[in-house]
Amino acid sequence: MSDPTDLEAFRREARQWIEANAPPEIRGLESSIEGAGNWGGRRATFDPPEMKVWMERMAERGWTAPTWPTEYGGGGLSKDHAKVLGQELARAKAPPALMGFGLEMIGPTLLQFGTEEQKDLHLPKIARGEIRWCQGYSEPDAGSDLASLQMKAVRDGDDFIVNGTKVWTSYGDLSDWIFCLVRTDPEAKKQEGITFLLIDMDAPGVSVKPIQLISGKSPFCETRFDDVRVPVANVVSEIDAGWTVAKALLGYEREMIADAFGGSRSGSKKKTTGQGSRLVQLARHYGFGNGGALSDGVLRDEIARLEMDERAFHLTVQRSRDAAKAGHRPGPESSLFKVYATELNKDRHELMVRIAGAQGLGWEGPGYEDEEIALTRAWLRSRGNSIEGGTSEIQLNIIAKRVLGLPD
Ligand SMILES: Cc1cc2nc3c(=O)[nH]c(=O)nc-3n(C[C@H](O)[C@H](O)[C@H](O)COP(=O)(O)OP(=O)(O)OC[C@H]3O[C@@H](n4cnc5c(N)ncnc54)[C@H](O)[C@@H]3O)c2cc1C
Repeated sequence: MSDPTDLEAFRREARQWIEANAPPEIRGLESSIEGAGNWGGRRATFDPPEMKVWMERMAERGWTAPTWPTEYGGGGLSKDHAKVLGQELARAKAPPALMGFGLEMIGPTLLQFGTEEQKDLHLPKIARGEIRWCQGYSEPDAGSDLASLQMKAVRDGDDFIVNGTKVWTSYGDLSDWIFCLVRTDPEAKKQEGITFLLIDMDAPGVSVKPIQLISGKSPFCETRFDDVRVPVANVVSEIDAGWTVAKALLGYEREMIADAFGGSRSGSKKKTTGQGSRLVQLARHYGFGNGGALSDGVLRDEIARLEMDERAFHLTVQRSRDAAKAGHRPGPESSLFKVYATELNKDRHELMVRIAGAQGLGWEGPGYEDEEIALTRAWLRSRGNSIEGGTSEIQLNIIAKRVLGLPD
């Protein structure tokens, strides 16, 4: 537990620094794990351009990765200090300077399992937003049953030759590196012949093809590997021991998803204002207002229940994080948060579309405002929340077996 006086001094320092360094143009901008905000990388585009300034200033301070050790480009902050920093950024309406699977998934995994060379090579580039990462786990015949994956890596001297196809690779077309699960021993039991490999997307033989989602966007891709040569030095942990690394990374992924849909980040964003929450404002806009209270009692109840659930969830995640010891790594309990967060997010979008009535079912055309079309598309996109990062059914199986100890 950090000294409260020290934390207050840090709060003052962080507040002053943010006031002096967060450009006004970036204040109040949205960010989300569905692509909004700055994700960095070689192909990064900064909109507005001041976002680049914000990223560079934060990276210089180590605050894009506040709890990572300073030698890898992090801020070296304790969990408590990082929490204060998060509160001060929210207070100043300063969006994250950098988001992405580098910071949230492969970074923590390399800190846990990487060699010194791998940490030195990759972590500072992630923290500075120079390299964007994507995840190569799922294959056409390996999703929930991930250990059935078939992408092959065959040893050739100091390299592997990799062949196969990954699918649903989020942002594969915008990423520079991919962390992959590959089969290195086809004879071993399925979990035992898997290796965790880092691959440069610019390597000859890597190709990506975007896949369109029901929302009309193409946030993910089919990624093919044809005779791609990858140095053995890019193996994380041991050859054939990738399953342990893969599961650890999934814990980080589930925490990221839970945070994004109500855990820590958006929990602070969804605070009510003088005019009421976004849901209440939407209800008034679509004719449910009645001066003070909303006129429809059923709708009032539904909004209140959803917002209480979101608030309670946010506090539960916070309590769990606060109670976790320093160096905490997510365990099977991250499945609980993942299920609940994604089901809540789906409920929220469902309710928003119902409030908008027929105006919430627009796809395109002059009869709909841009926000209404965005609402419909966001609702359709939210259907995937309980699939990505492992489906709700799979999370419930994990909770049953590994949290509750129920038999198979
Ligand atoms: C928006 C989005 C982004 C994604 N991004 C990535 C990414 O970046 N990288 C990546 O590698 N993958 C990604 N995925 C893939 C995702 O991890 C898989 O879709 C997911 O693991 C499910 O696999 P599947 O689609 O093959 O479905 P299947 O495994 O075929 O499942 C079909 C249905 O059967 C159910 N089911 C399967 N097995 C069981 C069981 N044992 N018990 C009960 N029910 C079961 C499932 O819950 C599901 O309802 C993404 C998916 C989405 C939707």
